Amino acid sequence: MRNMQATQLLFELSKPGRRANRLPDSEVPQPDMQELYPTATLRQKPAGLPELSEGDVIRHFTNLSTLNMSVDTHFYPLGSCTMKYNPKRNERLASLPGIVDLHPLQPDATAQGMLELLYNVQGYFAEISGLPGVSLQPAAGAQGELTALMAAAAYFRDLGSQRTQVLVPDSAHGTNPASATMVGFQTKTIRSREDGSVDMDHLRASVDDSTAVFMITNPSTLGLFENQIQEIADLVHDAGGLIYLDGANMNAILGITRPGDFGADMMHYNPHKTFSGPHGGGGPGAGPICVRDFLEPYLPTPRVERVDSAEGVHYRLGYDHPKSIGRVRSFVGNIGVLVRAYCYIRACGGQGLKEVSENAVLNANYLLTQLAPLLPVPKGSRCMHEFVASASKLKKEKGVTAMDLAKRLLDFGFHAPTVYFPLTVQEAVMIEPTETESKETLDAFVEAIREILSEDAETLHDAPKTTRISRPDEVQAARKPVMKWTVSP
Ligand SMILES: *Cc1c(COP(=O)(O)O)cnc(C)c1O
Repeated sequence: MRNMQATQLLFELSKPGRRANRLPDSEVPQPDMQELYPTATLRQKPAGLPELSEGDVIRHFTNLSTLNMSVDTHFYPLGSCTMKYNPKRNERLASLPGIVDLHPLQPDATAQGMLELLYNVQGYFAEISGLPGVSLQPAAGAQGELTALMAAAAYFRDLGSQRTQVLVPDSAHGTNPASATMVGFQTKTIRSREDGSVDMDHLRASVDDSTAVFMITNPSTLGLFENQIQEIADLVHDAGGLIYLDGANMNAILGITRPGDFGADMMHYNPHKTFSGPHGGGGPGAGPICVRDFLEPYLPTPRVERVDSAEGVHYRLGYDHPKSIGRVRSFVGNIGVLVRAYCYIRACGGQGLKEVSENAVLNANYLLTQLAPLLPVPKGSRCMHEFVASASKLKKEKGVTAMDLAKRLLDFGFHAPTVYFPLTVQEAVMIEPTETESKETLDAFVEAIREILSEDAETLHDAPKTTRISRPDEVQAARKPVMKWTVSP
């Protein structure tokens, strides 16, 4: 249905003199600003902002909000991102006045409830990871990587150790080498074998006394559990290095195995992925990290601490950690996301979290089994919580790319999967259904792919046809843009 309101900019809807509301004339005389601030360069004319009624504005933004796909409206199988349903219960609890009205500069004594909640969520993160030291401060997974690597660098500095290298498998998320580089390490890429596992010969040849950290994502971005993880951890530890676990894929292993038990020394969570926080345009993330005891002194301050004394129990923000790397973010972190994670963990309970992962893995394997005959999955016939299909054959035979397929899925009412990542699979289509989708939804998705594969290449190159904007980031000389992004002066 054509929707005029949403196709026009506020500037185009503007009518001179139109107002949302009218304030009474001011009883205070207007000062002459130029006289008050004679040396200032002041604007001589009004800013030329759009002039609109309240109704115009509300319609404009409400309509805009319906043009996007979201977890609340569509199946969203975006691999690596764990776009599970965000329970509304979490939103209600995180919006309680006692939580949203807290001021971050309030004295600890007046924020005991929040500090207790944060202290407890630290405990849950430690228990689920098997790593006791926790910082809630990092604002996203990527910043968690950065923070943990800064702590590792401080640890090596204390040891007087000159370790300069961070090793990263070729299937890693781009944030891994980026974080290592930002901390001042050199990154070296470790090859994967044909089956997606780490090439042990290459790793053995690369680990030496310059190795600071091996960063590994397990389960990997291919949706495979790295079975050599113990051997990898022993190899790196024997050389004096540390293991960093990128925890973005924790949704596959909650309550089943723990990074601390399979050799990791530090890790981050993505609560906005694993613990159901809204993300991807829906809200900010968080990147709490967990570390082994010997790295704990280096974690950022302040830390959320519990004090048991004769007067009873209280909670505080602790700054007395002389080896700390200091702050990486204002206050304690993105506590709105952490409150949602707390609610999710409490609502699921230990057994429930394990079932989350079991069902995430079951859903992914069901989808893999249904899809593999249509779209080859090069790295294995079983997966963890996600898998990576390839449109390589399709590209050779019909000239249809992973991008074409992803774009066409939008016309069928499905958010596109992740494409062209990981880099180790050609024409990668990375699919993560999550545990919150029904068999009916997964079946409908398979049917959509089947139908798309029967279409002619021309249709697919032109997709999507039903969305407001088609392919904004691609050069399509023949196509007129659907929307003109011109702003009147
Ligand atoms: C999402 C993701 C990250 C980065 O996390 P953000 O919270 O987006 O910063 C890192 N590694 C992997 C494998 C991811 O999927």
